[in-house]
Order: sequence, then structure tokens, then C-alpha cells
Amino acid sequence: MSFFRENIDAMDAYVPGEQPPAGAKVIKLNTNENPYPPSPATLAALGDFDGDALRRYPDAMATAFRQAASHALGVGADWIIPGNGSDDLIMMLARACAAPDRAIAYAVPTFEFYRAQALVEGARRVEVPYGEDFALPVEALAEANAALTFVANPNSPSGTAATVEQLDDLAARLEGVLAIDEAYADFAEQSALPLAKKHENVIVLRTLSKGYSLAGLRLGFAVCGPAIRAGLLKTKAIYNVSATACAVGAAAMADQAHKNANAEKIKASRRRLTESLEALGLRVWPSQANFVMVRPPDGQAEGMYQNLKNRGILVRYFKQPSLQDKLRITVGMDADNAALLGAMAELAGEESD
Ligand SMILES: *Cc1c(COP(=O)(O)O)cnc(C)c1O
Repeated sequence: MSFFRENIDAMDAYVPGEQPPAGAKVIKLNTNENPYPPSPATLAALGDFDGDALRRYPDAMATAFRQAASHALGVGADWIIPGNGSDDLIMMLARACAAPDRAIAYAVPTFEFYRAQALVEGARRVEVPYGEDFALPVEALAEANAALTFVANPNSPSGTAATVEQLDDLAARLEGVLAIDEAYADFAEQSALPLAKKHENVIVLRTLSKGYSLAGLRLGFAVCGPAIRAGLLKTKAIYNVSATACAVGAAAMADQAHKNANAEKIKASRRRLTESLEALGLRVWPSQANFVMVRPPDGQAEGMYQNLKNRGILVRYFKQPSLQDKLRITVGMDADNAALLGAMAELAGEESD
């Protein structure tokens, strides 16, 4: 007899991007981390953190953090649910909404963690393929009318984004929950945050991992109304956000100026990187995130990934049918991006020799 449910035995575990050991000399453009440090105010909050607070349990609802987020975003603090990263909120949603007869839908390829959670719950999965242009298949997702629909917007690994109008239309047509994962909202042109107010079935997920340079802190949050909140609080781990994350995250939310300035730098680097990659003959999908999806001219993405890795540059390669000819490249500091472009030009030169 197995220790586990049949669906757990049958599924593969989620494979995170490679994290080389600290101090390793690599240019790391594979997991969409922010290349700039957290704000000085955020680091000061970490330094000032009272160690005695660790003796006690944290505030189960991370109130100080939610108040700072409420102030920064202009939504009520009672509309915010804290998570141990937005991964935690995705798990809470799947546990609350999905079951074998209650489907989870999403367009693919996208963030693999949605599929992992559907498999854990043994939920029926509706995977609608994106076309080569990566336009959100609103019609097919609306028709699927799943208990829980995930849309990563901007999407990963494509970087492309649907408009708020499209998401508004989708929300109106779904009877189930529409979870709009805005992990990359800080680099995007639009946010669907107002839709959480407009539709009781909409929840918007945010994280401090990308825009706020705090992937190691593990802090995310959701914005939703009382109808979704009621269910999520039942699947939430009691103390899912640590006292440290709450205090440091509150300081980070209060310093929007630092986050916005870094986002502007990254968007400018993204524009330059896109132009240079296109000049090298790669196809680059229009990105509203802190990474770009590219296709090398010969479609040999795995070879390019390996050759870059041999030169100490890590990018992300997904060995899947619609992604095997593409790479996802995080926008780094300009020096990192220049090293990447130099290596790519060199590789192209070697090939034509
Ligand atoms: C990075 C990412 C997340 C996870 O964020 P955490 O808050 O670090 O758990 C969620 N969704 C998407 C689409 C992401 O790219």
C-alpha cells in the first residue's frame, strides 16, 4: 500500500529554477528575481527587528503589513489576505475551490504551480492552449466555466499581458472564481485590481518577490471581497506569515517610490535588451514583465541554454512541446544583459564559422 493518495503518487513534483550556491560566479537570469537590492527603509526594518518578538506567535493576519499594503494600494485592509509568498495563496485557493468534480482552468503554457495544485486536489484540469501570439483565450476559458480559473497577467513564461477589459469580460462570464495572478504587475502597463471591487468572483494575487526584491522573504497577498475571503480563511495555515516578513514587508510597501524607481530601470533595460536580441535575429515576445521570452533563429533553444550555462549565464529552458524552441530570460542589470548579449553574439559567430 502506498503512503499517499493515487493522484499524489501519479504526479511529478514542481521543479524550481536552478539556484546556484551563494557566492557562485554566475549571471543569474533564470528565476525572475529583481537585480536591485531591497529599499534602504526595508533593510532598516530588518535590522531594527526586535528579536524578542520571535519568541511569540506572529499576528495571524499580519495586520501591520496589510495596513501598509492597504495604504499603498488604496484598498481596505479587510480586502487583503496575507500569504507566505503568492504560492501560498494559490494553494489556499486550490484547496478551497477544487475537487475531482470542480475544475481548475488556465491557459498553457503558464506558471506550472497551477497545474501542480490541480493535481494535488485531484481536480479536473482544463488546459487551454495559447496560440503563438500568446493572446489570452478568453472565449475558451469562459466556456470551460471552471470552479477556479487562473490567469497569470502578465503571463509567465511569455511576458505577454491581456487587457483589463478582457479580464473584466472573462470575470463577468464565469460563475467560479477568477484568480488574476499579478506577480509582475509592478512592471506592467495595467492592473486588474479594480476588478476585485467590481466582481465578487475576482481575486488578485500580488507578491513582494519580484517588484520589491524580496523573493527570499516569502511574502505575498491577495485582494478580494468578503465572498472569496470567507473560504480562503478556512484553508489558510494559522500563522502563514512570519513576524519578520510582516514587519519587513510593511516597510517595503510603505516605500513605493523605491520599488517604482527600480521598476522604471528594469523597464528601460527590457526595452534595450529586446532591441538587441531582435538585432541578433531572435524573436522576442512583447513583455510587460521583468523577463522576455525569446526564440533563437534556428529554434535550438536547449543548445543555446546549455552553451550560455557553459559560459556562466543561467537562463530558463522549459522542455515542453510549445516551449522547447524558446527561452525565458530575466532582465538583469545592464552589465548582466550586456554579458548575455556578448555571449549570444559569440555563439552565433562560432556557428557560422
Ligand atoms: C514568481 C511567481 C509567483 C510566486 O511568487 P511568490 O510570491 O514568490 O510565491 C506566482 N505567480 C507567478 C506567475 C510567478 O511568476
